[in-house]
Amino acid sequence: MKRREFLNIGVQHINFSQQESLKTTDSEEGAKSGIAMIDTGSCSAWTGGDCRMCYIKCPLLDKAIVIEDFKPVVIGENCNGCGICENICSMINGKAFIKVFLKGINT
Ligand code: SF4
Ligand code: SF4
Repeated sequence: MKRREFLNIGVQHINFSQQESLKTTDSEEGAKSGIAMIDTGSCSAWTGGDCRMCYIKCPLLDKAIVIEDFKPVVIGENCNGCGICENICSMINGKAFIKVFLKGINT
């Protein structure tokens, strides 16, 4: 799947309040079964801000998250679902605008 196709799926289907997000990020099984998705309607970078912390903190920098047009974009096939991006976003914003979802649930 191409980057844009994956991103578009995320934009079309993501509604954090209705999805089952992985709350535990230290589970090996969970980490392998999740993919991070960005709520592009709320993320600072996608709405004109300059935050890039999920990108900076991702252990798979430039593999699982890349920067395109100054915005973070998750590369689904490379994301391992570790949840670090979700945690840092939540710490900064008081709410995560990038979350890890179980594979197979709108992914
Ligand atoms: S950390 Fe959150 S607000 Fe910042 S760029 Fe990533 S998703 Fe957007
Ligand atoms: S879940 Fe982990 S590997 Fe995937 S984008 Fe977030 S920090 Fe990177």
